[in-house]
Amino acid sequence: MTIDQINFENKKALIRVDFNVPLDEDHNVTDATRIEAAKDTIIHVLEHGGSVILMSHLGRPKNKEEEFSLRHVCAKASDILGVQVKFVEDCIGQAAENASANLEPGEVLLLENLRYYSEETAGDAAFAKALSQLGDIYINDAFGTAHRAHASTAIIADYFEEKCFGTLMNREIESLDKVMKTPERPLVAILGGAKVSSKITVIENILTKVDDLIIAGGMAYTFIKAQGGKIGDSLVEDDKQELALDILAKAKETNTNVHLPVDVVIANSFSELASTDHAAIDQVPDGWMGLDIGEKSREIFHNVLQSAKTILWNGPAGVFEMEPFAKGTIALGDSVAMATKNGAFSLVGGGDSVAAVKQFGFENQVSYVSTGGGAMLEMLEGKTLPGIAVIKG
Ligand code: AMP
Repeated sequence: MTIDQINFENKKALIRVDFNVPLDEDHNVTDATRIEAAKDTIIHVLEHGGSVILMSHLGRPKNKEEEFSLRHVCAKASDILGVQVKFVEDCIGQAAENASANLEPGEVLLLENLRYYSEETAGDAAFAKALSQLGDIYINDAFGTAHRAHASTAIIADYFEEKCFGTLMNREIESLDKVMKTPERPLVAILGGAKVSSKITVIENILTKVDDLIIAGGMAYTFIKAQGGKIGDSLVEDDKQELALDILAKAKETNTNVHLPVDVVIANSFSELASTDHAAIDQVPDGWMGLDIGEKSREIFHNVLQSAKTILWNGPAGVFEMEPFAKGTIALGDSVAMATKNGAFSLVGGGDSVAAVKQFGFENQVSYVSTGGGAMLEMLEGKTLPGIAVIKG
């Protein structure tokens, strides 16, 4: 069932949102992206005659600490939604039930932090049932926690006849399906970031699906060393060298083109103030480390990306947090943006590449930027997320 097929007239929609937003010392919301992301779903229910009860977690409270109260988010949510958001200082029990019962169509109620109860993360059925008493229809729009089988993200769905994804969840799932299930070819994936070990399941899952795989970032050096290259003091996982060779052999068997960097920006220490130079990736001198892809690599990757019809980007090309090593990641962003402008579908997701894309202003030049780091990574690994499975059935 989709949100468009449900009749919300005089109904209460209980929506799991991800309002786990950063707050400053005075409890002001410093980045409201996640609240903005939930807006479409909330407005849809209100415009179709329903009322909305929002539930979320905020931070990792241990003992109901005030700093983690969702009360702090109420004013910002009211601003963004253009509706006065009411607040109730519990998420289950009499107070919450009364507040829900008194809610009129067009009104929005925000419940207190779900994680004030340890039953939330434990996926406790009685807690999920108590939450379910508050609404007639369940909507899951919290993509960021969809990989967790928590009470409010998964277990609760059992207690509802009428349930669906919100529009944010739908966008996330549709974008990923466009890449993993029905891609226009060629499909090019860029995998960057620090370590092979943290991306190995992603590599294994996408290797047979993509036409071209660009491997950048710190993980490239394990591949280069495994092939006999000299990588100096660059990041390496020695115990993953055999695996790297297996991946390259498998890619050959399946006709997947793997593109590794050919040249790199090297530094004599892991620091913004380090001396820098340039080297072939398999000729990095001892005492030096590769911290970004070089110009030739950027050009090669650019050409591969310009032929793509679908692009998946996960992980930066270098240590983009330090200005001298950010140029490779910026160049990749430029290349992905240009391919997108020329008609390719591009999805950026899963961790640090999202931060990089936002930092360098590419957010509106790619087709979709995922809102869920861990959740997107698990989807790229081919896993079925609990928060999705309970609704899809
Ligand atoms: P991940 O979370 O696996 O996507 O890794 C992201 C991190 O990888 C970023 O913090 C980058 O600074 C880091 N990184 C990228 N390239 C390198 C490199 N060549 N050497 C060390 N760290 C890198």
